Amino acid sequence: MRCLKCGSGACIEIRRHRAAYCEEHFVEHVHKQVTRAVRKFKMFEPGEKLLLAVSGGKDSLALWDVLLDLGYQADGLYIDLGIGDYSARSREKAENFAGARRAALHVVSLPETYGVNVGYIAKKSGKPFCSTCGLVKRYIMNAAASIKGYDAVVTGHNLDDEAGALLGNALSWQVGYLRRQSPNMPASQGLVRKVKPLCRLGERETAAYCIIKGINYILEECPMAKGASSLAYKDVLNALESRAPGTKDRFYLGFLREGRHYFQGGSEEPQLRPCSVCGQPTTAETCSFCRQVQRAGLDPLAVLEAIKNSGA
Ligand code: SF4
Ligand code: ZN
Ligand code: ZN
Repeated sequence: MRCLKCGSGACIEIRRHRAAYCEEHFVEHVHKQVTRAVRKFKMFEPGEKLLLAVSGGKDSLALWDVLLDLGYQADGLYIDLGIGDYSARSREKAENFAGARRAALHVVSLPETYGVNVGYIAKKSGKPFCSTCGLVKRYIMNAAASIKGYDAVVTGHNLDDEAGALLGNALSWQVGYLRRQSPNMPASQGLVRKVKPLCRLGERETAAYCIIKGINYILEECPMAKGASSLAYKDVLNALESRAPGTKDRFYLGFLREGRHYFQGGSEEPQLRPCSVCGQPTTAETCSFCRQVQRAGLDPLAVLEAIKNSGA
């Protein structure tokens, strides 16, 4: 196997592109794929302030590295959910990366704010663990970006994540989700722009990038992810991809190009207004985050204070 660019020994083959690369040209390939996604979907411009949600895993750390290499102003946000050892180790990876690259990292911690973890809030409010976790993360990401004056929230969702989510949404015809599934959700009514610059790269590529660049990331998945249907969708797509390389690209990028517009229009976007408790945008009188945190007997405003003090 020879590098497509220079003909020296290749370290990785990308079957869907019918290409193989040496280390140097693989790094260049990853940078190019991110640049293409950023330009094609008009995600952000040089000079804009980006807040990257960092989990300590391969995707978010690889993306942070790429954005810094490309000269973007990208600060990190780590949300400590208090999921035992997993959170402690992933936080350490995020902090080590930030230290090594002299990058700014905001840390917002549920255990340090409330003395409890996300599981406590889920249990006390009678909601499932992962949906509570998702709600808390979305809330903190948006609030942190708007309080700290960032232009966009950036997440490390990759091609596998997006193709898997698309399969899940299509299987049950979740029209609302299909309408909103985009690597660039523009700012709207108090919601900060949300972008996914890794949408052209698979997780095998982000892992290889981290290894080549010497980025130390947390290998294990969140323990709560076991049995999640999103993993089953990824397995199905991986099986198809190994039989027909390029399936995920055609499915997901093809949807963005050819299919997504079929789901546009129709129902009106819901009107948002400031939450009566915290002021963040919501469709209801009080936002779901405040309601759920209050049901757990906690003060939602404490998180906003934690964000203000999260420094970097
Ligand atoms: Fe949160 Fe873990 Fe569930 Fe993901 S798998 S939503 S990180 S609890
Ligand atoms: Zn090469
Ligand atoms: Zn609220």
